[in-house]
Amino acid sequence: MSHLGDTPKPAQARVGVYICHCGTNIAATVDVESVAQYAARLPNVVAARHYLYMCSDPGQALIAQDIRHEGLTHVVVASCSPHLHEGTFRTACAQAGLNPYLFQMTNIREQCSWITPDRAAATDKAKALVAAAVRRVVYQQPLEARAVTLKQSALVVGGGIAGIEAALRLADAGKQVYLVEREPSIGGHMAQLYKTFPTLDCAACILTPKMVAVGRHPNITLLTYSEVEKVSGYVGNFTVTLRRKPRYVIEEKCNGCGTCMEKCPWKKIPSEFDLGLGYRPAIYYPFPQAVPRVPVIDTENCAYFKSGKCRACEKFCPSQAIDFEQEETLMEIDVGTIVLATGFRDFDPRQTPQYGYGVLPNVVTGLELERLVNTGGPTSGNVLLKNGSKPEKVAIIHCVGSRGDQHEYCSRICCMYSLKLAHLVRDYVGSEVVEFYRDLRAFGKGYEAFYEHAMERGVHFVRFEKDIRVEPRGEKLAVVYKDVYTGQYAEAVVDMVALSTGVEAQPDAHHIGQIFGVSTDLSGFFIEKHPKLAPVDTATDGVFLAGACQGPKDIPDSVAQGAAAAAAALSLLDHGSVELEPFTSFVVAERCGSCHTCEGLCPFGAISMVEWNGKLVAQINEVLCKGCGACVAACPAGAAVQHGFTLDQVLAEIEGILTRETETAAILQEAV
Ligand SMILES: Cc1cc2nc3c(=O)[nH]c(=O)nc-3n(C[C@H](O)[C@H](O)[C@H](O)COP(=O)(O)OP(=O)(O)OC[C@H]3O[C@@H](n4cnc5c(N)ncnc54)[C@H](O)[C@@H]3O)c2cc1C
Repeated sequence: MSHLGDTPKPAQARVGVYICHCGTNIAATVDVESVAQYAARLPNVVAARHYLYMCSDPGQALIAQDIRHEGLTHVVVASCSPHLHEGTFRTACAQAGLNPYLFQMTNIREQCSWITPDRAAATDKAKALVAAAVRRVVYQQPLEARAVTLKQSALVVGGGIAGIEAALRLADAGKQVYLVEREPSIGGHMAQLYKTFPTLDCAACILTPKMVAVGRHPNITLLTYSEVEKVSGYVGNFTVTLRRKPRYVIEEKCNGCGTCMEKCPWKKIPSEFDLGLGYRPAIYYPFPQAVPRVPVIDTENCAYFKSGKCRACEKFCPSQAIDFEQEETLMEIDVGTIVLATGFRDFDPRQTPQYGYGVLPNVVTGLELERLVNTGGPTSGNVLLKNGSKPEKVAIIHCVGSRGDQHEYCSRICCMYSLKLAHLVRDYVGSEVVEFYRDLRAFGKGYEAFYEHAMERGVHFVRFEKDIRVEPRGEKLAVVYKDVYTGQYAEAVVDMVALSTGVEAQPDAHHIGQIFGVSTDLSGFFIEKHPKLAPVDTATDGVFLAGACQGPKDIPDSVAQGAAAAAAALSLLDHGSVELEPFTSFVVAERCGSCHTCEGLCPFGAISMVEWNGKLVAQINEVLCKGCGACVAACPAGAAVQHGFTLDQVLAEIEGILTRETETAAILQEAV
């Protein structure tokens, strides 16, 4: 325990420096030849080369060859982000017999050539970064990665179609899955849909079998009405704390007969599932096909919880499943991997008053129209105006909340669900339909044919410029718009307006992201590790993404991503063990002042005080240490040291950046 972290600079270090062109990504802006020449003159550097693609086989072979023939002791590669190729170069070093932690990567693409248009400035910056890496690397010491076994279980957060797909795939592969859903039932938005584009098959008919399969699967523990409170641990060994809200109904006893709902005297509570267009009792399950088919008591509207009287549900329940004493509970589970599938929120058009939503009668959202036209919905499929009559003409306005001031992105699903609603209104209501669109995006398989079919069914299409609003015209509504082809303002008088509201990130996405160590983008969606090459991975190893929580997505894409996330999680679990970075901390006992500061600060309980040479000193359990560095930053005596981030290494790197100019001058002087 007494080994010192700040080892002396190895004067005999022999460093190889490799500058990547990355095609023209770096070379077009950075003078790579000049950077290599500069690097060659830095202290300890015995080989400095530039190459078209360092990550290619010949590029890696250059490094291996120099390790063997030039006797390199340390290697620096200046190329792209370490996120992309640190592993590649570490492996190349290891295969040539060099400890992979004697390698340092510096980013002269994302952090230099891509953001510094001026060639001279970019070249100068690249030199500074290379100088810093060379200075640092000579202080790096051989380290060993730690192998840890992976728990053979998975957590899926969110029971929409993406989470359902991921859970079923993992469970079918024999893994123990915990599916956590915050609502009383799984199903997500898809459960609210009537038909699905472009095939118009019944949403419930394709979703319900999957929901039932989840409910029955021996490898799935379904935890509805629950949320994740806390996550600790690391890839392969996460400990998750869940908060389970009380249903006031014992799940194991309830047989889902619905008697409690029939007998509940409070039946006029607006149904969340039906977006307030229908009613539910105070004890309810959100929709008939709910999984689990176990009701919850809404305490805010339950007579017993409000006044202490009633208990009708308890009286009539044939299985004695009602339990008014239930309390919120915390539950801890251990899992090896996590899939986030928390979905999206429908844009609230009250934020865009020009459409009159919430003010003018007969202005509804697309999702509301979807509920209304559904024969199993709150109005049994009757789409009626506020005055009780059938709408003769319905307008559907696209891009509400998308591609504008509220959200700059395209929501991807609204063009298609607008076409679907047009089909449904034509088929089931018989009204005339006018679609007001900006650009029609029918990009998926069978989508263009679906659009053409809508035209054949007599749906009218009007292309407007960004400017559009809804105004009252007596009993009717006028859609006032600027026609894209004539440039003139025009208006269409209709009976009903449906707003194709966009997709937005869940309001708590940032908070959920923090729990799981996943960042959100400017719009609030979770960020994947790489938009093209790692679309379901995240920056946190072992945590994957599925569905609309990562960005707007339709059902086929959400299902595909759910399956992809499950495959990624499975390939991880099936390794059995995973290698962790060896960047843990240790305490130099001689320097420890026994102040206990680090002990209380360590979030992982990895530090304890032990007797050493007649005094108490801090000791770090390297198995529990996650390498967060909190103890290193807090230790007033500088006794806590972190592998890979020793004071010598960090200071040398900073020094390299700051003194480069002087160094360049010195090198040039020497040359003269
Ligand atoms: C009006 C409308 C019509 C549509 N029609 C179609 C169509 O015809 N065809 C088509 O392909 N697509 C359609 N879509 C898109 C479709 O709804 C989505 O593609 C799909 O719902 C995305 O699934 P998901 O699982 O990613 O998200 P969601 O369906 O949003 O499910 C997410 C789930 O996660 C749960 N959750 C959220 N946060 C947490 C948390 N912190 N803890 C636990 N659980 C959480 C939610 O309660 C929810 O159950 C339509 C969308 C709308 C709005």
